Amino acid sequence: MDFFHYKNRELYCEDVPAAELAARYGTPLWVYSKKTLLHHLGQIQTAFAEVDPVICYSVKSNSNLGILKVMQQAGSSFDVVSGGEFYRVKAAGADTSKVVFAGVGKTDEEIRFALENNVLMFNVESEAELDAIAAVAGSLQRVAPVALRLNPDVDAKTHAKTTTGKKGNKFGMDIERAEQLADKVLSDSRLSLRGIHMHLGSPILTTDPYAEAVVKAADVVAKFRKKGHDTRWINLGGGFGINYRKQEALPASAFAAVIVPVVKAAGCRLALEPGRFIVGNSGVLLSQVIYTKREGGKLFVIQDAAMNDLVRPAMYDAFHRIWPAKPSIDPPADYEVEIPGCEPADVVGPICESGDYLAKGRWLPPMSRGDVVCTFSAGAYGMAMSSNYNSRPRAAEVLVDGNTHKLIRRRETVEDLVAHEVGL
Ligand SMILES: *Cc1c(COP(=O)(O)O)cnc(C)c1O
Repeated sequence: MDFFHYKNRELYCEDVPAAELAARYGTPLWVYSKKTLLHHLGQIQTAFAEVDPVICYSVKSNSNLGILKVMQQAGSSFDVVSGGEFYRVKAAGADTSKVVFAGVGKTDEEIRFALENNVLMFNVESEAELDAIAAVAGSLQRVAPVALRLNPDVDAKTHAKTTTGKKGNKFGMDIERAEQLADKVLSDSRLSLRGIHMHLGSPILTTDPYAEAVVKAADVVAKFRKKGHDTRWINLGGGFGINYRKQEALPASAFAAVIVPVVKAAGCRLALEPGRFIVGNSGVLLSQVIYTKREGGKLFVIQDAAMNDLVRPAMYDAFHRIWPAKPSIDPPADYEVEIPGCEPADVVGPICESGDYLAKGRWLPPMSRGDVVCTFSAGAYGMAMSSNYNSRPRAAEVLVDGNTHKLIRRRETVEDLVAHEVGL
């Protein structure tokens, strides 16, 4: 469910024609739907209400202050993975006492900043990190709230680069080590063990990994309590999948059905860190066709968005639906089969890399120079992972609300590209 739709062969974001936005703000352009953001956050808030959840929107999926403010005003909290993200949520007006801080490499400076801002919990990933947090807390004469990040050795069945809860990747610790660290926390007055954290990977399209992981978490909570810890939180991270191809995503209620009863029986509160589920289907990337060409028996649609804007196809072999904003053919229900009146094309950008593509062999209606093209489900890990590769200024971002729209990040200029370079 999202608020991008075609009416009389014209694409709208809520009540605004996409082509109008492209003409007004230029391309490439990120367009976000506020209604879609709130719809997905609301779905999670409702589905998990029974276990008094703290929903921590994962800032790394899309960190624009305009998006963070929408989240904050709708009652979301935040999951951050760096001092920079912590700075952003403060700037968005967040209550930092509900912020969770994850990541394998927190520096002393980041730990201090988080403590001074009363972070809800550090998701601790190693013994060395626990020692560093204790030292910084001691120097500030504070008690640091920690959750131990377990690697539950659960297979999330996602891309190798986005699976995080399987033995052998860099995240978290096994259950034996977590028990050793729990003993260490107990004898250290600078630390307080609040909970268990896990993040299995992303995007996840079945409930099985969560069902398996939450039972492991509840077992560990029981063990920690026996040792004398006041362990009150189970944090299951993010990872809920979205509709990239068609309607393959599960509703939040499906995940809640396997998670809520276990968390409730454990007498815990639940923290979640959804990013993609909230913002993924809430954003699209608009671009414009520069040229088309036929070469080597193939049709190439060369348009002005590239891997520096949206790296997911190159990096994760990701699939994004692509269709013109004013198509001559109605959009199909299934983009992965032959479409009458269409021809397979590689949708590529101007970057000097063969890996610079948004889609390969994609069935598309006839397109020509100047046509506006939409790449769907691009709100998460799109702009957030963008770069200036090939000295391409980063695209602008626009937030649509009903029939209104506003710029939430201006397009970078060529002057911006060199602004930080010194010693010339
Ligand atoms: C990336 C990440 C998330 C968010 O994942 P989504 O798939 O966007 O929901 C949550 N928690 C942690 C620790 C992460 O690294």
